[in-house]
Amino acid sequence: MITVDYHTHHVRCGHAQGQVEEYIKQAIALGLSEIGISDHAPIYWQDGNDPMPNIAMAKDELSAYVEEVLRLKEQYAGRIAVRLGLEVDYIEGAEVECAAMLAPYPFDYLIGSVHYVHGRNVYDAQRWHGLSDPMPIYAEYYRLLAKSAQCGLFDIIAHSTAIIAYAPKPIPQAIEPLQDAALLAIRQADVCLEINTSGYRKLGNEPFPSARMIALARDLGIPLTFSSDAHRPNEVGYARDQVEALLSRLGVTELARFEARQRAVIALAPRVVYL
Ligand SMILES: [Zn+2]
Ligand SMILES: [Zn+2]
Repeated sequence: MITVDYHTHHVRCGHAQGQVEEYIKQAIALGLSEIGISDHAPIYWQDGNDPMPNIAMAKDELSAYVEEVLRLKEQYAGRIAVRLGLEVDYIEGAEVECAAMLAPYPFDYLIGSVHYVHGRNVYDAQRWHGLSDPMPIYAEYYRLLAKSAQCGLFDIIAHSTAIIAYAPKPIPQAIEPLQDAALLAIRQADVCLEINTSGYRKLGNEPFPSARMIALARDLGIPLTFSSDAHRPNEVGYARDQVEALLSRLGVTELARFEARQRAVIALAPRVVYL
């Protein structure tokens, strides 16, 4: 049974609902042992306090965010382990600014995300209109994914196939080598890959990354963790059953957990069966 969820948002980013505490309470109700709070980091590579108010928290919100999560961590100690995380955009060339933003805070873990390719968000449906060949963007996406693992700033690599929920579908034979190269880079960098169940919400049948990539990650020995990417409290633990079934089919018996930037493993607890 999966008892951790390392990827949740809340009202601060401008496009999620509910307070941090509601996500913690939902995790307790589900019987989780750990809940990671990982809202979108401020847009650190652009000027201004709040350059994208519906995408990420304002720059001057980051310290209040950290204080709130640390207070709740204390308050809920003994009932659930609350982990202080952050989902951070990987922007090539802005690694120094990124490190400077993160340095003052005692994070348990950091999630690195590729949302911007050639300076534009891959979730922006407009960019794909009338595009005859999406392959150069896919190639750049997977190159950046590898670099996000290699840059040394992050513990977990986020939703590593999320681009396919927005872009024209690629030919599998063309994209698989790109994905495999990114996984090799993730392995060499010794970072963790999340199984992000927003894939089930956006595609219906698969998490991010695909089952094929999760199987290869297992073969390579890449640590895996569970992430609902909840943007509403009731999405905490989303599609845990499907991921449990997938991991059991793949023979995966443990997930990664994080505390003070140190990775450890947590066994997938046997599911209690009531006869
Ligand atoms: Zn979000
Ligand atoms: Zn997220």
